[in-house]
Amino acid sequence: MGFFDKFKLSKLREGLQKSHDEFVRKINRVFYQSRAIDDTLMGEIEETLLLSDVGVATTDRIMAHLVEEMQFKRWSEASQLRDELRKQIGEALEGRNGNVNSASASPLAFAAFDTPLPTTPYVMLIVGVNGVGKTTTIGKLAYNFRNAGKRVVIGAADTFRAAANQQLEVWAERAGVEIVQQHQGADPSAVAYDTVQSAISKSSDLVLIDTAGRLHTKQHLMAELEKMTRVMRKLKPDAPHEILLVLDATTGQNALQQAREFTKVAPITGLVLTKLDGTAKGGIVIALKNELQVPVRYIGVGEKIEDLQPFDAETFANAMFGDEMFQEAA
Ligand code: GDP
Ligand code: MG
Repeated sequence: MGFFDKFKLSKLREGLQKSHDEFVRKINRVFYQSRAIDDTLMGEIEETLLLSDVGVATTDRIMAHLVEEMQFKRWSEASQLRDELRKQIGEALEGRNGNVNSASASPLAFAAFDTPLPTTPYVMLIVGVNGVGKTTTIGKLAYNFRNAGKRVVIGAADTFRAAANQQLEVWAERAGVEIVQQHQGADPSAVAYDTVQSAISKSSDLVLIDTAGRLHTKQHLMAELEKMTRVMRKLKPDAPHEILLVLDATTGQNALQQAREFTKVAPITGLVLTKLDGTAKGGIVIALKNELQVPVRYIGVGEKIEDLQPFDAETFANAMFGDEMFQEAA
């Protein structure tokens, strides 16, 4: 592991401290020494997973696997079960039990900032309900992609709120990238068009488009996204290349519900899970990985510009569940 990787892991550790401490504490309480396997133990494992927001469907699946293995291998000691649990969580995070839809897999799979872009300008649309962290995520993405040597332009298509432009301007300045905006109340599609046009004329590599979180009805959301897409395609026929849905990890099962709703009506290509630093329930990542067709692409672990990372299952498993939990698996 190089210096930079170590730095990233320790940043991630910091961000996931609450989730890590909580989970490891609960697990240690469940698996105390030489405990026998019985219904109470199984109930406690299940409860620990649910309390960490792993989600009902994924918890059920993990529990079913545990019982199956336990009966097949005739285990009697909790430590054997603990190893299997670790394995199951690792696999759930890798998505091996999941069903990531290859049709929606983006060319930027795994989303490292220095990945060469398949086309330029590469257009990313950022969607999600109010307050989840869209604007902040755009600032962080712009900063990271710019640091990786890409020319970035941000489009301020959240034209609904007066303060939205100012907030995005601050982020663009911090990230050292350009921003395209219009007056408050302007048509978001017009802003998207202007941004792509500016990107083409200035040979920018990446376009990040902020959107309003006000799209509360499915029809409205669909219509708005379709219009933006139609307009941008006049300039760049395959745009947008990504539609990232931003979700707030602190809202737990609500985030999962939002993800279900959005993916039903919009061609979401990836998820961004923010505010993982603010929750003890990082297990939500496992639920999202397993219950949706769309991959988790980035995670936000703080309010600062450096606090965003491409999602990597192994690093995440280590930071969240700790070496204590993943010693042998690592
Ligand atoms: P938007 O309405 O979706 O554009 O959300 P904003 O980007 O304005 O963010 C809403 C709030 O969430 C702000 O106070 C951000 O600082 C905060 N926020 C965003 N991402 C993170 C994160 O990863 N960690 C923490 N702790 N706060 C975040
Ligand atoms: Mg915003």
